[in-house]
Formats: sequence, C-alpha cells, structure tokens
Amino acid sequence: MAHIVVLGAGLGGMPAAYELRAALDRKHQVTVVNETDYFQFVPSVPWLAVGWRTREAITLPAAPYLKKRGIGFIAGRVGKIDPPGSRLIIEDGREVAYDYLLIATGLRCAYEDVPGLGPDQGHTQWIGTVDEAEPAYADFRKLLANPGPVVIGAVQFASCFGPAYEYAAILDTALRRHRVRDRVPITFVTSEPYLGHLGIAGVGDSKGMMEHEFRNRHIKWIVNARVSKIEPGKLFAEELDAKGQLAQQHEIAFAHAMMVPAFKGVAAVAAVEGLVNPRGLVIVDEHQRSTNYPNIYAAGACIAIPPVEVTPVPTGAPKTGYMIESMVSAVVSNIHAELSGRPAEAKATWNAFCIADFGDTGAVFIAQPQMPPRNVTWFAQGRWAHWAKIAFEKYFLYKMRRGGTEPIFEKWALHMIGLARLKPTAPADTGKK
Ligand SMILES: Cc1cc2nc3c(=O)[nH]c(=O)nc-3n(C[C@H](O)[C@H](O)[C@H](O)COP(=O)(O)OP(=O)(O)OC[C@H]3O[C@@H](n4cnc5c(N)ncnc54)[C@H](O)[C@@H]3O)c2cc1C
Repeated sequence: MAHIVVLGAGLGGMPAAYELRAALDRKHQVTVVNETDYFQFVPSVPWLAVGWRTREAITLPAAPYLKKRGIGFIAGRVGKIDPPGSRLIIEDGREVAYDYLLIATGLRCAYEDVPGLGPDQGHTQWIGTVDEAEPAYADFRKLLANPGPVVIGAVQFASCFGPAYEYAAILDTALRRHRVRDRVPITFVTSEPYLGHLGIAGVGDSKGMMEHEFRNRHIKWIVNARVSKIEPGKLFAEELDAKGQLAQQHEIAFAHAMMVPAFKGVAAVAAVEGLVNPRGLVIVDEHQRSTNYPNIYAAGACIAIPPVEVTPVPTGAPKTGYMIESMVSAVVSNIHAELSGRPAEAKATWNAFCIADFGDTGAVFIAQPQMPPRNVTWFAQGRWAHWAKIAFEKYFLYKMRRGGTEPIFEKWALHMIGLARLKPTAPADTGKK
C-alpha cells in the first residue's frame, strides 16, 4: 500500500487527486493537503474584483467532495517538506508521511522585487486569489465614487499576463456600465516587448488583435516597461528600447492600480535544498519528477520552466490551465506506472490553450507547442468567447463537485482542434481500474 499526498488543492491539485483516485488500486491511499479548506477557481477571480462574482460562487469546500470519492483531506499550511524523511510538517505541528508527493502549490507573489508593489506593504492591487480580490473590489468601489486614472499591467519577470489583459478590459466594461469611464483614463504598462506577447512570443496575430482591442477601448499602453517603484498614487516606469537601453521615463498617476507581480515558489517549497531553482520553483524532468527526489512530482504554476525567448525587459512563460492539466495527466500516469513496476515515461504536452474574458467580449488562443515555431496557432476574438469562459467556469466547478476525471466534452473539443493531453510517445494507459 502506498500513500500519495497531493500538496495543494488548486487548479492542478484537485483534478490530480480525482485522477489519482480513479487510476490507482483502492489499496493505495490518496490525501490532499491544502492551506485553506476550500477550492477556488482562479480564472474567475478577476470577476470578483469588479463585483461580478462572489466568493461563494467560485469556491467550494474541498473536504466533502474529495471524501465522497474516497480521498483524504487535511486543511493546514505546510511549513516544511522533509524529502529525506518523506514527510510534510504542517504549521500546527501535524506530520503527514508520504510514499509519493505531488507538489501543486501554485505560486507566491514576489512583491519584494519592486518597491511599493502589491496590496500588503505596497499600493497596487492583485487579483490572484479570492482573499486578494475582495480588497481590490473595495478599491474599485472607491474608484466608482471618486473616478480617476487607472494603471494596469505586469512588472518585469512577470509570466502570467492574461489576468492583466482580462482585468483591463473587464474594468473598462464595468466602468462603462457605471457610466464613469469618461473620467477614468486607463494606461496599460507591461514588461512584454509588444502587446499580446503574453510571455510566449505571441500567438498568431495576438499583437494586432490586442492593439485593436485596446484602441477600441481607449486604453493607452507602454511596452518594454521596467517598473522601478510605486508610491501612493504614482507608478514610475522606465521604458526600454529594443536593445534594452533606456528610451523614456514615465511617472503615471493613479487612483486604482493592478499590476501582475513576478512569481516565486511558496516558502515551504522554496526552502527545500536540491528541489528548486533560485526563484523557488520546482525543477522537474520531462516526466514531471524532481531531478533530485524520485518520489516527488510537481505540476502547475510551482514548476520551473525557461522563458520562451529573451526580451529587453525580462519576462517569463505562463503556465496555463490546459498545460497544467496535461502535467497532471503525466504525473498520474507515471505514479501509476511506478506502483505497477513499470518506468515513469509519460510526458506532458505543455501546450497553451486559454479563454480570456474581456467583460463583454473575449479571446481564445491555442499554441501548440507553446514555443514557436508551432504546429497549431490560433487566436480568435468575439462575444462568444465571453460566454465560453462563463460556460467553462460552470463546467469546471461542476467537474470539481462531481469528482469527474475524464471530461468527455473537454477531450472532444480539444481533439477537434488537434490537441492531445499527453505526447504521443507517452503510454496511453493511465491504468484506470
Ligand atoms: C488571476 C489569474 C487568472 C488566471 N486565469 C487563467 C485562465 O483563464 N486560464 C488559464 O488557463 N490559466 C489561468 N491562470 C493561470 C493558472 O491556470 C492558474 O494560476 C492556476 O490556478 C494554477 O494552478 P495551480 O494548481 O498550479 O495553483 P493554484 O490553483 O494557485 O493552487 C495552489 C494551491 O496550493 C495551496 N498551497 C500553497 N502553499 C501551500 C502550503 N504551504 N501548504 C498547503 N497548501 C498550500 C494553495 O492554497 C492553493 O490552493 C490564471 C492565473 C491567475 C493568477
């Protein structure tokens, strides 16, 4: 009997627990450990920041749904991972021993990289979790009462640009509905070399399409921007040229600001010697396994992946939902193989597929592989994409309540456009019993 522990009940961890339970023999035990007692659907969090969702609408209690499928759940923040002892130590002193550990802890915001960044000690909002989006919503209500300029964007070393674009367009839509948009100039400030780069060197004509979208919405933009500091109500940015030389300095006043920070690994993961890179992100091989600890796997935003290309201001590559799902499938397949006495050979595809909401319209992009040149490149915009994102939210939450492992619609839809969840070389057998 083996005990498989999934650390993190997020977009990667929850589906991983369900898939592991379905794939492995019942004699093996699966337990999820998460710092909160609920699952939150992170892609919907930007809606909470403008009052279009409540916390209750996009979260669900993890324990009852996992328990229904025979999966254990422990609520508590892990303070230490002890790979030689194969155990986790929760901050309240409880210990959890494992035979296999799947780290799916997501990210930590590196606010310390830019003076004045972030909601804790700084002056900008962040909409990454429900806990952070609620104060952002309070700040949005202040903006409605006292309209003024807005800055939105992503700082140097950021890798997750989607929420910045979504929030800019969602905020524009919300402000128009409240009839105050005419008193709110919006400036988009990003480390990307061009709009629509997204940390993946663009997808199709994402540059042209995002410029078109922002022009239509009267959103000004500054690219190649390195944010040097943020003071109350003022953001200081240095705009670089293509050679990385200073082209222009900007001082942008704001009444409301939301800047995507760079991400690092969470403290308990970052502290493990030999597990992580200097940014605290887990170094994995092509089978999602730690290069130093063979019984530790990692999936999701917590893993280290190299930037797609060098940019004048440093940017990172995003880890999006579909890519994470393919990592999870590879991990499940590999743990199952090892428990069955076979080598771990499955690899994730690491393709990118994203539905971005723009409030009243939206965009969908597909990049296969994530790194150009690509076999599949697709970027499309329209009102339908807004509804597709809502449908996807409902579907994903339904899947998390039901404990579904192989969503037929998802598989069907993605196969229609030529994507497969595992590389063709990987064994198709996930060992479902
Ligand atoms: C605002 C936002 C919007 C996004 N929108 C999209 C989108 O539309 N489409 C898309 O494809 N991707 C999107 N992404 C990117 C990506 O899909 C998400 O970041 C996704 O949530 C990452 O999944 P994860 O499982 O790696 O981490 P998370 O979903 O963040 O889950 C990590 C879990 O680990 C827990 N945890 C962390 N540390 C500890 C600890 N020490 N002890 C116990 N538990 C711990 C956390 O509480 C959390 O539950 C978005 C990202 C953000 C930030």
